[in-house]
Amino acid sequence: MKKLLTSATLCLALTACSKMGTAQAHEIEPNNMKAEVQKLIDTALAGTQGYDIIEGLTTDIGARLAGSENEAKARDWTVDLFEEMGLENVRIEPFAINGWVRGVETAEIISPSTQNLFITALGGSVATPESGVTAEIVYFPTFEDLESAPLDDLEGKIVFISGRMEKAPDGAGYGPANRKRRSGATEAAKRGASAVVIRSVGTDSHRFPHTGQMRYAEDVKPIPIGALSAPDADQLERILVSGETVTLKLVMTPKDVGELESGNVIGEIVGTEKPEEIILISGHLDSWDLGTGAVDDGAGIGISAGAAKVLIDSGFKPKRTIRVVAFGAEEVGLLGGRAYVEEHKDDLINHVLASESDFGAGKVYEVKSGVKGEGEETIRAIAKALSGLGIEMSDGATNGGPDIGPMFAEGVPAIRLQQDGTDYFDLHHTPDDTFDKINKDEVAQNVAAWAAMVWMASEAETDFRSDR
Ligand code: ZN
Ligand code: ZN
Repeated sequence: MKKLLTSATLCLALTACSKMGTAQAHEIEPNNMKAEVQKLIDTALAGTQGYDIIEGLTTDIGARLAGSENEAKARDWTVDLFEEMGLENVRIEPFAINGWVRGVETAEIISPSTQNLFITALGGSVATPESGVTAEIVYFPTFEDLESAPLDDLEGKIVFISGRMEKAPDGAGYGPANRKRRSGATEAAKRGASAVVIRSVGTDSHRFPHTGQMRYAEDVKPIPIGALSAPDADQLERILVSGETVTLKLVMTPKDVGELESGNVIGEIVGTEKPEEIILISGHLDSWDLGTGAVDDGAGIGISAGAAKVLIDSGFKPKRTIRVVAFGAEEVGLLGGRAYVEEHKDDLINHVLASESDFGAGKVYEVKSGVKGEGEETIRAIAKALSGLGIEMSDGATNGGPDIGPMFAEGVPAIRLQQDGTDYFDLHHTPDDTFDKINKDEVAQNVAAWAAMVWMASEAETDFRSDR
């Protein structure tokens, strides 16, 4: 009798009592779920919850370099936003970072004819002497060409690495193109070079160079590295390919400024039935210093917080806790995501599902699962419920996004709503990443997808953690 009662109780928690059995354990469509999901989607599509947040953040604060005063102001701004929205347990979790700031940056071809080029230092780069570095350029069509060049061959030279990035909706060209940004200085320094200029990692043809973080291997002498705008890289390439010897004068004076404070801002909708179980949604609050960080990643802040706002304003009370996180210092090495893991290592086990929006404001077109088995089946069901928004299930894997990577590596299940980023790398990390590039309707589609996804994940019977 006791067993029967248990079954009956379980039955109430599931979709359809006529479909009892383990195969239905991942069902996420109780009788009214469809209507609830539609209500969230309709509310988001008719609203400007995400768009307003992006406008406010980029207008009130502007650029938000990791560790800067503006990033601190953005944390306070976000605390106010979360409290006004009605999130609970709003707090900042601070952490320390090593600060870096940009200085003067100029590049000039001295011979065969004088020409100014548009350049920007890569994040973390050391400076040239104040008088600059003037030297002959050695040209490498790709990063791989530099990697296979003999050692000790470039003494005192300035290395130029070209290599074009392919456009793709999912940004597949970024990883390969980014190798020169991350490791170009190390490979050139190993060969005795005095500085490096790269073709910007981007897909545009405007004259804004793209910055982004770089790293030095521990065993090399750090040398300065900057990125040229695509048309300037084209120009330099044409001159070099014609067989001319090119002398370049490079002046860049960025500097390390020691320990600074960054932080993650957190707010929650506390779950009604399983408050200890956390569904984490996020974006990153910091940006590069050149633009106002609208697509990277004001959009992710607006989309994730906007989704929570849609739930609250629609009177939805999720069973699990929805935790909204605005990560700090993502651009300079996922430092917010790493600090979060450090701070929460004892309760990562309670994180049921996590995701970050950090790919601009283009429409979501597919769902990627970072879980297997029963959890993946539920994520497929979520994707199906989003089909009215033009969203499909992808067979591709995900780690949930940049700041989710570190917790994913510790076993936290992940999901990603993949956006169309075909044009994302036209703006990424340039002065041109500004609010006018944000499309209101596309942000609303994102917010609708996130609000519906979060609701279904919070109500699902599935434990996404069981197969990780
Ligand atoms: Zn980003
Ligand atoms: Zn970025």
